[in-house]
Amino acid sequence: MIVVIKKDANEKSVENLITWLENQGLRVNVNSGIYQTVLGLIGDTHSLNAELIGGMDIVERVQRISEPYKNANRKFHTDDTIVDMGGQKIGGGNFQFIAGPCSVESSEQICGIAQQVHKAGANLLRGGAFKPRTSPYSFQGLRDEGIEFLLQAKELTGMPVVTEIMNANHLPMFEQVDVIQVGARNMQNFELLKELGRQKKPILLKRGLANTLEELLMSAEYIMSEGNTQIILCERGIRTFETSTRNTLDISAVPMLKRLTHLPVIIDPSHAAGDAALVYPLSMAAAAAGADGLIIEVHNDPAHALCDGPQSIKPDAFASLANDVEKVLAIVNKKG
Ligand code: PEP
Ligand code: MN
Repeated sequence: MIVVIKKDANEKSVENLITWLENQGLRVNVNSGIYQTVLGLIGDTHSLNAELIGGMDIVERVQRISEPYKNANRKFHTDDTIVDMGGQKIGGGNFQFIAGPCSVESSEQICGIAQQVHKAGANLLRGGAFKPRTSPYSFQGLRDEGIEFLLQAKELTGMPVVTEIMNANHLPMFEQVDVIQVGARNMQNFELLKELGRQKKPILLKRGLANTLEELLMSAEYIMSEGNTQIILCERGIRTFETSTRNTLDISAVPMLKRLTHLPVIIDPSHAAGDAALVYPLSMAAAAAGADGLIIEVHNDPAHALCDGPQSIKPDAFASLANDVEKVLAIVNKKG
């Protein structure tokens, strides 16, 4: 349920209402927006007398929320959430490029690519240290050493880093990581999500291969219900009957998520297509559709990449992509 407060409401009366609601066993999420204050009520609101609250002189209206996600709901928080990713803001008109290889392969590799993508316009560096591979015989990532190399690249370029976690027991290794990524395969690892909800770091939450937008928002809700509201959602392609691409990019997820939630939404065109040649057009489409950022796999030698080479673009291709995306951002009124 949400309670919309009248513009000229007396502050003390609002505080009294909040205390009264809390005494009914509810959690009250106060959202003081530019135009209005909205109280989001979390808990069992069935016994609340909505008419009584709606009749108070400080209350404009009361609305029951039918969606199962509350904290992530746009109705709870009308303004866009702006997430600070290690000093780089995303959401609310701020766009970010996150670029780097699928996997960290060596110090030289990640440091070299970091310098190139930074020069080409990326503000955050990606690189997997723990890799969720379909086959146990494929390269599994450099693990703790991979994180060490990623931090060397951060030191060298000043770029904040994004890397994937697969197990909550690994959290001590992520202390200096700026943004923790939850991969598509772990989108519904609820124990992991709850633990990440207790962290004070932004979480990049990828949509599962076969999950609905409501399921994605419920996963965000798991993190938010534990206190961490710094979440960036990522559409990375879903499984469909189409076989010519690795996955199918659900471009409508961008405007639909924007309607349903206040959280920033980014697109991963690399995993969506599985094809380097499609990364440019899908990136342009993402920017035009209103995405708040892109996460792109960039490798200096895609033919010899240890993971996801066919979908990786080279640094110079990333530079011209970033340049052209900026032109689209100017049209949709976003800061790149
Ligand atoms: C990745 O970003 O390298 C990755 C494994 O992505 P996804 O979880 O979307 O497959
Ligand atoms: Mn990859």
